[in-house]
Amino acid sequence: MSTSLPALLELLAGDLSPGGVVSGADISERHHSDWTRQGPCPPLAVLRPRTTEEVSRVLRRCNAVSQPVVVQGGLTGLAGGATPRPGEIALSLERLVGIEEVDTSGGTMRVLAGTPLGVVQDTAERHGLQFPLDLGARGSCSIGGNISTNAGGNRVIRYGMTRALVLGLEAVLADGTVVSSLNAMLKNNAGYDLKQLFVGTEGTLGVVTRAVLRLYPLPGERLTAFVATDSFEALVKLLAAARATLGGQLSSFEVMWSDYYEYALEQLAVSNRPFGVRHPHYALIEVEALDPAHDTERLGDFLARLLGEGVAADAVLARSLDEAARLWRVRDAAGELIPRLPNPVAYDISLPIAAMPDYVERITREGAALLRGRPAFIFGHLGDGNLHVISSLHSYADLAAYDGIVYGALAGIGSVSAEHGIGVLKRKWLGLSRQPDEIALMRSLKAALDPRGILNPGRVI
Ligand code: ZN
Repeated sequence: MSTSLPALLELLAGDLSPGGVVSGADISERHHSDWTRQGPCPPLAVLRPRTTEEVSRVLRRCNAVSQPVVVQGGLTGLAGGATPRPGEIALSLERLVGIEEVDTSGGTMRVLAGTPLGVVQDTAERHGLQFPLDLGARGSCSIGGNISTNAGGNRVIRYGMTRALVLGLEAVLADGTVVSSLNAMLKNNAGYDLKQLFVGTEGTLGVVTRAVLRLYPLPGERLTAFVATDSFEALVKLLAAARATLGGQLSSFEVMWSDYYEYALEQLAVSNRPFGVRHPHYALIEVEALDPAHDTERLGDFLARLLGEGVAADAVLARSLDEAARLWRVRDAAGELIPRLPNPVAYDISLPIAAMPDYVERITREGAALLRGRPAFIFGHLGDGNLHVISSLHSYADLAAYDGIVYGALAGIGSVSAEHGIGVLKRKWLGLSRQPDEIALMRSLKAALDPRGILNPGRVI
């Protein structure tokens, strides 16, 4: 790079509105890492554009001098993708916020990428609609980050991943070109669906700046049931029965193994337990009620039948929003509980439901010597074939060996990332889930869209 950093920052400051460049001691520690807190590193500077035009100008400038850039949204990622690496400038979208339009007849919303997911959800609800993407980090994560990582969350079983909720996008390429593909139509087969280049590619092919999102009708009420089972087989039967009986109204089927559940209760100081005794598995079931009174009765009948058949060992139906929130709190707390563990590691894997019991048994057995009594908490989205494993290592020196156990057991059957993405932390395991020709095609796309490799270098591929 021929331009010195102070000279480059001065030029960048001229490209941005006031307060657009933060450098040196003024950079908040928040920008040093994502939620994993692994390998924190201060960026050379933080750029804070207010408009797409400003994003375009600073990328053109950085590209001209091959200055690497790490893109940052709400910094709630769990794959290290937004954590700066030495020599990178952070491009933060925290000032690129706002809802531009809500079309209630078409069921769409146009938003700027830095807008927090919670704001998108609340705005949709104020218009009598819902944006169904939902995850524990809703208050902090940004919609641009959700799109870049193709976030999943709690309602994938009903509405699909973020990809299914994005109709159009605007993105800025590494050289500053603005690609505006702000389609708001449900059907549009006119040529390549370019927005998919930027959904789930973790900011390696372009920076998402705007999106047109798909909204759905707001249900009359969300009903929550909490069910215990005494075996994994019963849990799978419960899922099948819920799908068959509750159909399209089933919006969540979240599961927790008892070790996670007990740890969360203890950490959150929850005293009133719904059940008297401990069970090996728990499921949180959410139903979107159209007619709350009728659907509550139907869900109650469903639970009574499964209790009668011995599939459910115990069950409760939340009688108020408050009760439902208390039940969800334990599941939602996962993100905040991770940093409370010494040397935490979090996994996000995908595999066929039928393979789960053997998989869990295998990583428990093979991991025992490394964990030596430390926990391996398991919970996740059973209906999506997606489990999360959270462990606490004695030392990060054991990380590669433990990764090898958790990922190695997936070879040939599953994916090393179901919903969090590859980032930096899972890059060396990508080959377990993707064929060499697939990775070669990913590299071709990267070379075509970002020939100088300035956007999120070292992430994904
Ligand atoms: Zn998840």
